[in-house]
Amino acid sequence: STAIALFTSDLRIHDQPVLRAALDAADRVVPLFVLDDGVLGSRFCAPNRAAFLADCLEDLDASLRARGGRLVVRRGDPVDTAVRLAAETGATAVHLAAGVSGHAQRREDRLRRALGDLLHIHDAVVTVVAAGAVTPAGRDHFAVFTPYLRRWEQQPRRDPAPTPRRVPVPDGVQGERMAEVRALLASAAAGDPSPALPRGGETEGRRRREAWLGAPLDAYQDRHDDLAGDATSRLSPYLHFGCLSPTELVRDAEAAPGPGAAAFVRQLAWRDFHHQVLAARPAAARLDYRPRGDRWAADEQELAAWREGRTGYPVVDAGMRQLAHEGWMHNRARLLTASFLVKTLYGDWRAGAAHFLRLLVDGDLANNQLNWQWVAGTGTDTRPNRVLNPLVQARRFDPRGDYVRRWVPELASVEGPAVHRPWRLDPQRRAELDYPEPLVDLEEGTRRFRQGRGLS
Ligand code: FAD
Repeated sequence: STAIALFTSDLRIHDQPVLRAALDAADRVVPLFVLDDGVLGSRFCAPNRAAFLADCLEDLDASLRARGGRLVVRRGDPVDTAVRLAAETGATAVHLAAGVSGHAQRREDRLRRALGDLLHIHDAVVTVVAAGAVTPAGRDHFAVFTPYLRRWEQQPRRDPAPTPRRVPVPDGVQGERMAEVRALLASAAAGDPSPALPRGGETEGRRRREAWLGAPLDAYQDRHDDLAGDATSRLSPYLHFGCLSPTELVRDAEAAPGPGAAAFVRQLAWRDFHHQVLAARPAAARLDYRPRGDRWAADEQELAAWREGRTGYPVVDAGMRQLAHEGWMHNRARLLTASFLVKTLYGDWRAGAAHFLRLLVDGDLANNQLNWQWVAGTGTDTRPNRVLNPLVQARRFDPRGDYVRRWVPELASVEGPAVHRPWRLDPQRRAELDYPEPLVDLEEGTRRFRQGRGLS
């Protein structure tokens, strides 16, 4: 018999319940990835993620080939493609990981209608705890993180799926050549990837994972907010594409003692938290989760200055330039640049989230939109009116100014923390720097936000 393993956000062979279930139930398996026409033509097909995805697919294909199989990549509508392939190969089952976005939920519904009992959906593949598996009394999801975390910690963990030794694929199944896949993705994305984009794929993800877990995690607790220290795992793109199993990562991190490991696991619980919110409220990708009646007011010029890292606030500009250069930004920088847009310029979180999604290689609907809403105070944040002052943030999280000097070369010659306030430099020195004046006065900005939100 033949089964189809339809890969989505689970591009790996280690701890891969979808592939494992297909192999257990059939003699032959077609590992399928569909280049979804609906995604290829959309804003979700951005250059950084398209290039990273090409790496992931090549790597997955190579791993399957090493086990006697290969990856079948087809272009089209995923439902039509899976149905056609099932008919073509006589497959008696199609296996798929449960998704959380509106797009994933619609795909699942359509597959269920088209395939009926042939479809098998697997939970806890993309997240550690399946969305909806834990709920507070009388509600379909948690809106507050701490009680969610308590329940999340108590949930039994799924046993890791054994890694397949052989993947027998039926003969004669047609698919795109890998070189064509890369070219297709590049042309659909229309634009160049960031110069320092990390390499994608499970092999690279596992190498980074081993290096991260192999070093003591203790420093993570104290240093994860240190902008220049760069002391976080940078595993987010590998988690986004499913090159790494979040369950396996949590299990291995939990085995490491100490507060650093616990803090790291807690961040992975945040990832699940946002996924369960989006699964229950797919519209939160676009609409305020908790509307506050905002009348967002940033103009196009201000938005452009923010996007391009020319706000005149060095720590904000450093974050935005890191994003453009690496397709990734430090979490603390994401927080303070996002806060600057929504709470100082009073710009719509959707405009900021869209820019992040265009560039972030880990750009993820659940994590991105819901973190943006958290910062904007329209989401699950319990302090919706808090404003992060970029100068206070700079003093605390880049005390020597090294992060700014790394990313804002115009200021590289300014020593020490003075780099955070170029307007205070001696006027002649200031005039020599090719760096803009602050776009808005911080107090004026906060007033804009407070008035717009009806707080004063
Ligand atoms: P680590 O600190 O090593 O954390 C380990 C993992 O935990 C991360 O890889 C990530 O999967 C998860 N994680 C950490 N923090 C969060 C968080 N706040 N919310 C959800 N998961 C978290 N993360 C994305 O994966 N994709 C996004 O599109 C995204 N957009 C964001 C937008 C804004 C405005 C903000 C404030 C945060 C966003 N985050 C996003 C969350 C976080 O910034 C990144 O996950 C983190 O910086 C990735 O770096 P790391 O892998 O080194 O993280």
